[in-house]
Amino acid sequence: MLRLKNRDSRRAAVGVAGTAMAAAATVALDRPIERLISRLSASTLSMLASAVVVAGIAAAFVLRRSWSSRTRAVAREMRTLREATLLLQNRAGELEMLMRLAESLGEALEPEALKLVILQHLQPFLAGHELWLSTKETGWQPIIGSRSLAARSGEFPPQDQTWHTFPLMSQHKLVGVLGVRHDVEPLTQAQRELLHAAAALLTVAVKNIQLFRKVRDLAVIEPLTGCVTRHHGIERLSTELRRAQRSHLPISVVMLDLDHFKSVNDTHGHLCGDQVLVGVGRILKETLRVSDERCRYGGEEFLLVLPDTTAEGASRVAENLRARFARTPVLCARGSVRFTASLGVAQAQPGESDVNALLARADAALYAAKASGRNRVSAQSGVLVSEPVRPLSAAPRPAIDRRDVHRPDRRQTPARGRRASDWQRTH
Ligand code: GH3
Ligand code: MG
Ligand code: MG
Repeated sequence: MLRLKNRDSRRAAVGVAGTAMAAAATVALDRPIERLISRLSASTLSMLASAVVVAGIAAAFVLRRSWSSRTRAVAREMRTLREATLLLQNRAGELEMLMRLAESLGEALEPEALKLVILQHLQPFLAGHELWLSTKETGWQPIIGSRSLAARSGEFPPQDQTWHTFPLMSQHKLVGVLGVRHDVEPLTQAQRELLHAAAALLTVAVKNIQLFRKVRDLAVIEPLTGCVTRHHGIERLSTELRRAQRSHLPISVVMLDLDHFKSVNDTHGHLCGDQVLVGVGRILKETLRVSDERCRYGGEEFLLVLPDTTAEGASRVAENLRARFARTPVLCARGSVRFTASLGVAQAQPGESDVNALLARADAALYAAKASGRNRVSAQSGVLVSEPVRPLSAAPRPAIDRRDVHRPDRRQTPARGRRASDWQRTH
């Protein structure tokens, strides 16, 4: 049965039905139809006929109205259904993206990998919106963009007119902030919801990276000086050599050996010697670039890997270090102790991939620096970079011992001696 939705249509239908029922009642109650018709005048009959015709037209009109309103309702329902389907399709796309984001984030163990995953999976869903991400461990570290943050740990990052910020909170602590630019084009509700979900995934990824770094540091970092172990240093050098080969960029290494360190130990004790090594580690960290590698190569010997650096640049770095060592005494129990170091610099030749050959040249340069009086820098050609300096009273300088030439641990170079026990102390 037809359902008449429109109010006018309903009224008209009720009117027509009423007229018809009144006529029928009159007929049924009093007289037979013939008597009624014979009594009616011609004009009344024609009026009645007209009324029947009008009622028919009205009924047809009502039926048509109700039919078209029904069609409109169906069309409206279809439209709603289509919109809902489109919305669901979009949501399915977003859900799929979030799943892919989560999957890729699980494999991102470095900040650089985190950046790539975000740009690959999240950015396409935010076309026209610039992104930035900073993470926090001890200090703020920019991952995407270079925006500096004033937000302190645990504080909610402030929203501003340019950036909508999504805090990455882990156990009530702020571990990072994701920012999305929304002044050029406002974020839609769906995009905000998506970013809230993405921020939750990023929080887990940032914690993962921090945890991974901690575990790796425990395995790779030597605790006294904060430098990486010899094994890791050589691996890093090998990686950087390959990278330099591909990029045609220069790369240099510095070999560094503390002067007369044995006598520091003998005079002030091993604990004080350890303090000197801690001081060396601190100066190395403060002086070198983050992209450089600091490696404790042996007892009181260090290897520095300087990517994207020529021999001249590396010699300047080495000279800077030498000067800082010489003017930075270390405080020990029995007073402050001065120390010096000799440094040898070598640059990789274009296309050079042999780690040992490069190390041998740096070691030869170091040997030259030692041979020419210590507390100085020598480049691989053997030419002294730094001027000879006055000997220090705390470190008496014996003549170079010829036994130094035959080092048990580094066969390919003439170098300085080292006690096996010292080697075991650090490795
Ligand atoms: P040179 O100028 O020729 O390098 O003389 P040197 O005395 O520094 O060299 P040598 O190889 O004769 O002695 C190295 C010393 O470094 C001996 C060892 O006791 C000390 N040493 C090595 N590792 C450590 C360490 O971890 N802690 C301390 N305190 N001393 C160490
Ligand atoms: Mg030494
Ligand atoms: Mg040594």
